[in-house]
Amino acid sequence: MTSLRPSAEAADRLLDGLDRPQVDAVTADGGPVVVLAGAGSGKTRVLTRRIAWRVLRGETDPDRVLTLTFTRKAAAELRERQRALGLRQRVPAGTFHSTALAQLRQRWSERGVTPPRLLDRKIRFVAQLLSGDRGADPADVVAEIDWARARLIEPDDYGRAARAAGRVPPMPADRLAAVMVRYQQEKRRKRLVDFDDLLALAIRDLRADPDYAAAVRWRHRHLYVDEFQDVNPLQHALLCEWLGDRTDLFVVGDPNQAIYGWNGSDPALLDGLAADRGATVVRLDHNYRSTPQILQLAAAALPPVGGGPGGGRLRADRGPGPLPTLASHPTDRAEADAVAETVRRIKTADRPWSDQAILVRTNAQLILFDEALSALGIPVRLRSGPGPLGSPEVKGELRAIGRDGIDLVQCLEELDERLAALAAKPATGAAAERQANLTALSGLIHDYVTTEDRPSGPGLIAWLTTLQHGGTEGADSVDAVELATFHGAKGLEWPVVHVAGLEDGFVPIAYASTEAQRREERRLLYVALTRAHEQLHLTWAAERTFGVKTVGRDPSPHVADLGRAIDALRGGERAPVDWRAQIARTRERLPDANGSGHQVGGPGRPDAGGGRGGLGGIGPDPDDLLAALRRWRAARARAAGVPGHVICDDRTLQVIATARPTSRAQLAALPGMRPGRLARWGDDLLDLVATG
Ligand code: ATP
Ligand code: MG
Repeated sequence: MTSLRPSAEAADRLLDGLDRPQVDAVTADGGPVVVLAGAGSGKTRVLTRRIAWRVLRGETDPDRVLTLTFTRKAAAELRERQRALGLRQRVPAGTFHSTALAQLRQRWSERGVTPPRLLDRKIRFVAQLLSGDRGADPADVVAEIDWARARLIEPDDYGRAARAAGRVPPMPADRLAAVMVRYQQEKRRKRLVDFDDLLALAIRDLRADPDYAAAVRWRHRHLYVDEFQDVNPLQHALLCEWLGDRTDLFVVGDPNQAIYGWNGSDPALLDGLAADRGATVVRLDHNYRSTPQILQLAAAALPPVGGGPGGGRLRADRGPGPLPTLASHPTDRAEADAVAETVRRIKTADRPWSDQAILVRTNAQLILFDEALSALGIPVRLRSGPGPLGSPEVKGELRAIGRDGIDLVQCLEELDERLAALAAKPATGAAAERQANLTALSGLIHDYVTTEDRPSGPGLIAWLTTLQHGGTEGADSVDAVELATFHGAKGLEWPVVHVAGLEDGFVPIAYASTEAQRREERRLLYVALTRAHEQLHLTWAAERTFGVKTVGRDPSPHVADLGRAIDALRGGERAPVDWRAQIARTRERLPDANGSGHQVGGPGRPDAGGGRGGLGGIGPDPDDLLAALRRWRAARARAAGVPGHVICDDRTLQVIATARPTSRAQLAALPGMRPGRLARWGDDLLDLVATG
């Protein structure tokens, strides 16, 4: 890193390599300055350059800068970009919450106040408040409480505001409003604060004490906000307090990337700031990140009317690149294996693993890709925070299970029973995500129990810890393929991006029921697609296993549009692909459909009973093999002292009996063949198929 000494000359060198509107944004006088532009147009570049430019011109003391963003990861990214520009001193960059907490801690310590405790198990806390209010899922109630707080909506006004926003409260609105009141009272009584209280308390202190407010404003004299489209009214209120009556504010944002509306953010705040008569508005119209092919494809994800500046109308600065690809796979495991293979094929001496990322819609999907890449020895980094294992519900489950002396198999059975009961009624919102995380946990415990001679609670925790860290997660300097959710990928970029799981239910997410939610899901897809520089590979699976249940999947409703966009990019050189026919072909490749004549099942398809042989008397009868497999399972289960389904569920046995795999690779590709199962029972199963 070169250190830059304050000089106008050094500052002006920072303007090299910027286009005209970007220079205007970096050098605009005073504030507020609002940069409105699409993905990859250099908003974050302009924001960091402006800080460095002003510091080098001696106009800004770096200690008095505060850069705000929305996640710790994004704050780290901003700090990294500032370092890369040669800014020696650390320019503060943080989230609204981390900055508010630092401010409160300082104030509490100055005044000798014992800090309140942070409420980290909010769902459990709310569940206790709901004890007399059966029926509503506490996770959904928490989502409503958070939304109302983010929007500065008082309990009395909740019903009206929720109706206006098209929300469907998990319980009658007046009862939910009463829970909100109880929630606040109970927290106060126990001296607990939640994350949003940090913002509210910081606002209260600033409003109550003008001298204190003046000191804080002196400290944070120059305010910068990245990704302003995702600011919510509560954060905005705090920003206004930090700003006071000054105008030294620089924000960048893209309404087409607003992806937190459901959690209370309000892109109208960005429009409001831009419409502010004193604001300088700069629009950037070039995209420096992606090839024209990728940009054109990404534009197909946005609603046809577009709306917002830039968005689908950016001009690509890069030269043309390869055509994006779109492929379907018979099962989720086949999809993960195929993506892992593609990742391996793309890796060359000049293209490190870290040039590639795999992006999915939900945390729970990450595990399959982690397994598939790890099976090929490909290093992986989980970017999206902790993944399902770090979710509160899984942590809560592990706290109960991970103790010594616990009967793990019984715990697993109970968990599976609870999941089966949950699966019987369609989940929405946070509850659906919770269910998916617990299902992922159940799959992992099954793997552990079947690979471990003496399964125990602490052993499980140790095993999961190594799974999470065993060469997969690492320091940013480690060369690894990134695995992230669409949300976690915001603001980031990679030369090669694989967007997987493009299925109805993920894209859009199953619980997106209103038009506004579905539009937000489209913007989320747009964010994912616009992360790529050169190569974009899209995939979906026609069948997916959730825990022990396998269900048929339809492609995302956007797949047809994306397919058509790829056809258009192909420029009519070849006949357009018939996407309907391709989907039908994918279904035909399903193991069941090949052999036993099973339909691709919906959630309710009975597993037991076995498929009738559909081979018309030619070749071995799958029923004989299935019977042999079940006998083998019964013997193994007896020997291990566990129920049969812990060794292998019936559905997987049926698939094996029908597909008759002759190699480990074929066996591994079958739905339900998780790595643990394969490692432990692969040889047994192949022997049985060979002799059965
Ligand atoms: P997003 O909306 O995804 O957050 P963004 O608008 O913040 O994107 P940046 O991440 O700042 O865009 O820039 C996208 C890429 O383009 C980065 O690799 C950046 O270094 C590069 N870039 C930006 N401006 C220029 C330029 N004038 N010349 C060359 N490269 C540029
Ligand atoms: Mg950015």
